[in-house]
Formats: sequence, structure tokens, C-alpha cells
Amino acid sequence: MSKSLYVVADLRNGALRQVFSEAIHAAQQASGDGDTVSAILIGSGITGLASQAAKYGLDKVYVVDHPELKDYRPQAYLTAIKSVVGDSVPDGIFFGHTAIGRDLAPLAAAYWNGGAITDVIALENDGSGNIVFTRPIYAGKAFEKKVFNSGPWFVTLRPNNIPAIAADASKQAELVEVDYAAPSLRVIVKEVVKKASGKIDLSEAKVVISGGRGVKSVDGFKPLEELAEVLGGAVGASRGACDAGYCDYALQIGQTGKVVTPEIYIACGISGAIQHLAGMSGSRVIIAINKDPEAPIFKVADYGIVGDLFEVVPLLKEEFSKILA
Ligand code: FAD
Repeated sequence: MSKSLYVVADLRNGALRQVFSEAIHAAQQASGDGDTVSAILIGSGITGLASQAAKYGLDKVYVVDHPELKDYRPQAYLTAIKSVVGDSVPDGIFFGHTAIGRDLAPLAAAYWNGGAITDVIALENDGSGNIVFTRPIYAGKAFEKKVFNSGPWFVTLRPNNIPAIAADASKQAELVEVDYAAPSLRVIVKEVVKKASGKIDLSEAKVVISGGRGVKSVDGFKPLEELAEVLGGAVGASRGACDAGYCDYALQIGQTGKVVTPEIYIACGISGAIQHLAGMSGSRVIIAINKDPEAPIFKVADYGIVGDLFEVVPLLKEEFSKILA
């Protein structure tokens, strides 16, 4: 029987996040002949984004646009998804493994009595029709492969792991505006206080420059910020640096912080504790700068520079500025 799969769009600052196009790609990989893959856009004042989403090779793009959906609230967003699927039970819904997706996917799974596989980094067809989902466990030390026994499926995809689907203007999905009957909500969002700056989102950055306790001060992060600026990357940190007050906890990478999987991760003055590695070991290329040649970070690094970060980082900035000028 053919399946109806949906992908819930992740928005940030009024724009579609890259993880949305990655989740579409995943849903398309999981679909077979005769299956449909459609997107669900939820928010306020978002109709303009629908035509952009329509270029991703989808069957339909459903838009649930209502002032009450401006800020994320689980009950409201679940109601919006219910407005799209109506009385039928969805066969599968894909989400980004983001703050919203991590909250909404299990809620939807509980509502439709389905299974949830979260933090997926890869999926494949095992040849007998089963879609096998891979997810890291034990802070990235091992991977488990899971299949759904039965539907409906609820899946969250870790950003930066599944290649994003490219927009193709020749593919135009049908746009469907969906009425939203606002439920009486138990939660009211009074204010959204943004802690992180408007710079590149750490979890989606292609290049991450991270500082550890070796950075030594708030000002010690400046050379890292300058290098990130040149490389178009984002700045992250170890918990050591956050605990020392050198930077905000919003930058923390690791087991109890964010998980990043950039193309290039540059660890500056970070020893490489297992809890830190849990958040960055999936990076494509790891470069470590540390003055201790025995630092454990060198065991996971593709390139290691034994030296003082305050000498090495400005030199990297200078050289990359020349190359990228
Ligand atoms: P340190 O271990 O102190 O290392 C500093 C490094 O800087 C050293 O290797 C030193 O050689 C080098 N250095 C010093 N000066 C220079 C210089 N001028 N140039 C170059 N190198 C220099 N940690 C995380 O990062 N993320 C987490 O999510 C996290 N979660 C945790 C959860 C739990 C339950 C626990 C118990 C711990 C957790 N930790 C986490 C903490 C973790 O165990 C380490 O303590 C922490 O990662 C160490 O941070 P660091 O590498 O910056 O500091």
C-alpha cells in the first residue's frame, strides 16, 4: 500500500532552515513507488515561503498560517499538523532534530500511537523493503540501526548528516492553504529572548572554530571569532571554557551541549575529553591546535598543530584571508 509521508518545516527568523531540505531528502529516500512526500509549513506570515518549499520535488506543500502559530507551542503545532492530515493517520512524519522537532515528534508519536526514531544520521533500504535508520548512541561511541515494526513513523534527522535536496524551479508542488482552528492553549509565550547572536547557527555551520579553557579569557575568543569570520563559520566552545565564564553556554559543544557535524572543526585549546568528543566527533575534518602534544584531542584529529593557539590562530586567519580574498 502506498504511504503518505510528511516533512514538517523548520523555520528560523522567517526563513526555511537547511535541515528541512535534508529531512525532505530523507523522506524521499524512505519513500517507494506510489508514495507521496509533502511538506507542512507552520507559522505566521509564512505564505511567501511556500513557493520556495515547492521546488524541492514534493507532492504538496501545506501551509498553516495563523497569528497564533508565530511562536512554537507544542499543542498549537500538533493541532496544525492534525489540520493537515485530517481524520487519517499519517504513515510517517519527518522533523529536523532541532529544539522544535525534538519536542514535537514524540508528541505526535504519542498522539497517533506510532513509533519514534530520533537523531537519525543515515537511512537505507535493506533490499527487502525495510527502511533502516541509523542513530548514534552512548554519546556517539556506537551506532544503532532501527526499523519500524509498524506505522505510523515519526523520525527526527540530525542536521548536517543527510545531504540537502537541491531546489529545482522546474518542480512545482501543489500549494494547499489549510484552515487552522485555534484550540484553547494552556501555554502562552510572553517573550522570546534570543541569547545567541544573529550569526551562523552552530548546529548548521559548515565550519566551526571552538575554544577551550586554553583560550584563557573572554578576549581570548577574539582571534577565534576573527578566523570564523574569514571562513564563514561559527564559534563554539568546550564546557571548560563555558564553566570558566569565557563564553556563553549557548556555544557549548558536547554531551551536555550541542552536537555539531561541520565540514571542518577546529579545536583550539581543547584537551579532547570524551564528553566534548560526543558533540563533534562526527565532523568531516577535525583540526586540533594544542600546545600539549599528548592532548587526547590529537587522537581524533585529522590534522594536529602542536603550538600556542594565540600564535597559530592569527597565522591561519592571515593565510586564509589571502586564499579566500
Ligand atoms: P581542559 O581539559 O582544561 O583543556 C585545556 C587544553 O588547552 C589543554 O589540553 C591545554 O594543553 C590546552 N592549552 C592551554 N593553553 C593553550 C594555548 N595557549 N594554546 C594551545 N593549547 C592550549 N565538556 C564539553 O566540552 N562539553 C560537554 O558537553 C561536556 N559535558 C559534560 C558532562 C558531564 C556529565 C561531565 C562530567 C563533564 C562534561 N564536560 C563536557 C567536561 C569535560 O569532561 C571536560 O572537563 C571539558 O571538556 C574540558 O574542557 P577543555 O578541554 O576546554 O579544558
